[in-house]
Amino acid sequence: MKTARQCILLLVVATFLSACVNSPDTEPPLRLYVMDCGSLRFDDVTSFGLTNDETPVREMFVPCYLVDHPDGQLLWDAGLDPAIVGQGDVELQPGALMRYDRSVIDQLADIGYSPADIDLIALSHLHFDHAGAANYFPVARLLIQDTEYRAGFLNYADNPIFNYDYYRELADNPRLILEGDHDVFGDGRVRIMSTPGHTPGHQVLFLDLEETGPLVLSGDLYHFRFSRTHHRVPVFNTSAEQTLESMDRVEAFLAETGATFWIEHDSELAKTLKLAPSFYD
Ligand SMILES: [Zn+2]
Repeated sequence: MKTARQCILLLVVATFLSACVNSPDTEPPLRLYVMDCGSLRFDDVTSFGLTNDETPVREMFVPCYLVDHPDGQLLWDAGLDPAIVGQGDVELQPGALMRYDRSVIDQLADIGYSPADIDLIALSHLHFDHAGAANYFPVARLLIQDTEYRAGFLNYADNPIFNYDYYRELADNPRLILEGDHDVFGDGRVRIMSTPGHTPGHQVLFLDLEETGPLVLSGDLYHFRFSRTHHRVPVFNTSAEQTLESMDRVEAFLAETGATFWIEHDSELAKTLKLAPSFYD
């Protein structure tokens, strides 16, 4: 039999231990949701800087991501235009199709969020397949490199690689203009890395997830695995030289940190990913 005093002591120890487990030092959870925001299919991939014999891949996954941080919700990349949802295969251009089965808005609703809940929006770049739903997020603060902002918002008429109509509503959103890397929430766990070349202000996203480990989302630094192993540059990139420098920078970072690297358009990888409402933490 334990005495009352022993019981009180045990209670104190148990309370202390449970306080340790839930101590303020334990980082609040960070979650990454991957959403299927469409797909693309190209008969000819030579514009991506490789011959049609060098890869059998013709299909590209088009993702959107929700980074769920205790201090805010960040949408990273906005996929295809939800206006084509449910239309089956839609011609993008001769020899290229796009398809989008369920909108990012509906997928966010599955997780319990509406567009008005999204505090921050960052696009790896402003191409149509990364900015397609941008107009649906009217209050999110836009995190964008100064060079991308100038090319895509101020001088879009001179930059035919961008279609302003897909993201024009963001012109009125609050915005934070970046000039290089940016620690989104100030705790080092969600960091934008400046990786210009594909477009003037292309960027990739680093996440430090507790269970999954460090992870980098590629943007369009590469489109195919072959592009990565052979450092191939699409013909439509704004700067081949900057692209190669950005590839070197990211590869060095991956080697140094041991981070996992997801090529966002990698359709084989996509088949292995947990999609929302499942998540990575
Ligand atoms: Zn692109």
